[in-house]
Amino acid sequence: MSEQPTPMMAQYLAIREANPGALLFYRMGDFYEMFFQDALAASAALDIALTKRGTHLGEPIPMCGVPVHAAESYLLALIRKGFRVAIAEQMEDPAEARKRGSKSVVARDVVRLVTPGTLTEESLLEARRHNFLACFAAVRDESALAWVDISTGEFRVMPCPEVKLAPELARHAPRELLAAEGARLDETAREAGCALTELPAGSFDSAAGTRRLCALFQVETLDGFGQFSRAELSAMGAIADYLELTQKGRMPLIRPPVREAPGGAMQIDAATRRNLELTQSLSGGREGSLLAAIDRTVTAGGARLLERRISAPSRDLDQIHARQAAVAHLLDDPRLTADLREALSRAPDMDRALSRLALDRGGPRDLAAIRAGLTQGARIAAMLGDDELRVLAEAARDLTGHDALIDLLDEALVAEPPLLTRDGGFTAPGFDPDLDETRALRDEGRGVIARMQADYIAETGVTSLKIKHNNVLGYFIETTSTHAERMLAPPLNERFIHRQTTANQIRFTTVALSELETRILNARDRALEIERGVFARLTRAVLDRAGAIGQAARALAEIDLTAAFADLAAGEGWSRPEVDASRAFVIEGGRHPVVERALKRKGEAFVANDCALTTGETPAIWLLTGPNMAGKSTFLRQNALIAILAQAGGFVPASRAHVGLVSQLFSRVGAADDLARGRSTFMVEMVETAAILNQADDHALVILDEIGRGTATWDGLSIAWAVMEHLHGKNRCRALFATHYHEMTSLSARLPGVENATVAVREWEGEVIFLHEVRKGAADRSYGVQVARLAGLPDAVVERARDILHQLESGERQGTGKPAALLDDLPLFRAAPPPAPPARASAVEARLREVNPDAISAREALDLVYELRAML
Ligand code: ADP
Repeated sequence: MSEQPTPMMAQYLAIREANPGALLFYRMGDFYEMFFQDALAASAALDIALTKRGTHLGEPIPMCGVPVHAAESYLLALIRKGFRVAIAEQMEDPAEARKRGSKSVVARDVVRLVTPGTLTEESLLEARRHNFLACFAAVRDESALAWVDISTGEFRVMPCPEVKLAPELARHAPRELLAAEGARLDETAREAGCALTELPAGSFDSAAGTRRLCALFQVETLDGFGQFSRAELSAMGAIADYLELTQKGRMPLIRPPVREAPGGAMQIDAATRRNLELTQSLSGGREGSLLAAIDRTVTAGGARLLERRISAPSRDLDQIHARQAAVAHLLDDPRLTADLREALSRAPDMDRALSRLALDRGGPRDLAAIRAGLTQGARIAAMLGDDELRVLAEAARDLTGHDALIDLLDEALVAEPPLLTRDGGFTAPGFDPDLDETRALRDEGRGVIARMQADYIAETGVTSLKIKHNNVLGYFIETTSTHAERMLAPPLNERFIHRQTTANQIRFTTVALSELETRILNARDRALEIERGVFARLTRAVLDRAGAIGQAARALAEIDLTAAFADLAAGEGWSRPEVDASRAFVIEGGRHPVVERALKRKGEAFVANDCALTTGETPAIWLLTGPNMAGKSTFLRQNALIAILAQAGGFVPASRAHVGLVSQLFSRVGAADDLARGRSTFMVEMVETAAILNQADDHALVILDEIGRGTATWDGLSIAWAVMEHLHGKNRCRALFATHYHEMTSLSARLPGVENATVAVREWEGEVIFLHEVRKGAADRSYGVQVARLAGLPDAVVERARDILHQLESGERQGTGKPAALLDDLPLFRAAPPPAPPARASAVEARLREVNPDAISAREALDLVYELRAML
């Protein structure tokens, strides 16, 4: 007999079916419950107990649940593990359902789909990082990328050919990527470390997308925001569609889309970002990255802006100059900078508060955050006065004009409002006369109760009598059972109505007390209702000005970043780089901010170095040689970082810098150094090198560190050589090329614009001393053996290596053979036994081959040694 599911199970199954691809959190009272497969998956992922509830088709139903009050931390764990979660809430009071009949189930519906790219809760987000949702769309032969951070409202779009998708994803590091079904971006998404969500083709219809966007921004046409291609409309429209789907119609506050020009930012691909450890170190964390070393911002918004600027340094000279000028201005005025930073540090994250309020997930503290942010903003605008510098003046302008809202919030909110709207208590006295009156009634009720208790004590003579309150009985009078007889007998029992007897107490009520209780309860409910109204009104007032508040939040971030750059420049002795449209790259006294910081902690000094890639019209390339550990990689990277910082609008770690706009930055490391990624294959190295040679234009800056060493010596040298020639002849870009192939130094004589440089070392009593000084010229030798000794290679191995090196070097001097041939003569280097016995096997060898060591005794072995010895 087929079993009918219970009405509740039927409801569950219907909701389940309507929301495929996500775990269903099904609200039951104080818990979110999961059933069937969801329960199995969630209990394993969260390590929570799996139980059973009833049966379905004759089988017990697996179930697990998480308490509603702790749901956020479980949600975070699930999202981190790649799940999506649909949250089904009870849409009515259970009492309503009961009224409909004993069998009816509380109405439930999914109110939200939680996915990695659509988080807004403070506890689920990293304050100092963006949480982007990206969308890639292709319409015929055009394609575009749009991205949005619903927790801050940032919404952008740009044309993006598919080959540029990976570098763009690397720049924004979105948590989630939307793409059309069958777009086959699994690998790309995995590489970029984001979740891939495929949407049906219908979501990408550009005409429907335009309509959705118009509705979202409440405009007739999108023309006011700029001209968008069909692919861009499709990408943005699909984002709007997905937000409707996940937020179930309650749309987040999104700013009008900004179209980014594809050439607006320095292009930095994923490998380069990883390599230069811009926002994450190779080991994965923020510590050890450029961002961690230079982040002096004091607000979360400022930190997010810094990450954006570092991830996408500008190519707009005007913009760069304006930002530099603002930093210089603050650097000249340390008092102002300190005051600004102090005020900024009190400004909460308005962006995120605003987004929670828009999604109806906000609370009184979000209103207070807006109040504090705008208040500090007004203070900051006053400090800046009528500053003429563009960046600061614009910011100051965006921070003014919020007085009416500040006054309203000030008047309406208490100083430190509670977290939840539900319990009330956030409205300041004096704001709403109705509320004040109701509150007085409620509080007065409490006073009346105290008086009533005193009266009853006098009347009964029971001094331990108390009026108490609990959720079951409401207000009641309590005495210990020792007084039971008195209380239950006339005349007292006429007024004191018995309600409950427990082990030690007896509880009563009186008509007067019940009446009072009703009055108090009514007053409390009424006060809460009024406060809910106040909250709604304030939220509306804030959302009415959402655009202006968003601008103010951005202004605070801009000022914070400017002041942070000034603070950094002052503290670390950085200087203002000259950035222009030339192809110069001249650095004096350059330093690597991360290495320098690490050395400082150990009490060691960093050796500053110059770099001068200037040869006018011809490409300029430095070929850097020097032993391992001398500081080649550090030098290469520091120059790349200086270019990034200069175009990010900040100052740079150098005593002087002249940077001609860098259009693209490429950095590659030879395969052997790339172990951290677990794919140290020569193939990867070559694929990445190919990407540079195919893409770099004449304004690119290329940094190649030991390219070609993932293969045999001669192969490697040949590849490095050819790559160098290509960079010089075809790409014609600026480049720094570190290699341990000394043979390459002869290229400088043949290719104009190629210069040799080396990191100096000194040899002292057979040991190397690293000077970390970059000089013109080629390294004399590689000191590899000495470095190996420093690394703790056993003495015997070091000695043997010295011998071999000596033989190789003398062979080379005498011209008796190529090193490869010489190596073959050294048994140590022969990788595999020769296929057949050598033609001229010595007599000793021939004799040895006849022997089977397992078959001879010790005595015979000794005799054999004598015999062999005699043959020499
Ligand atoms: P290479 O690439 O030549 O093998 P690295 O650039 O990795 O060498 O540098 C090795 C170590 O030398 C670094 O970890 C750092 O501690 C130190 N170092 C490098 N450059 C400098 C410098 N300019 N001043 C001081 N120490 C340096």
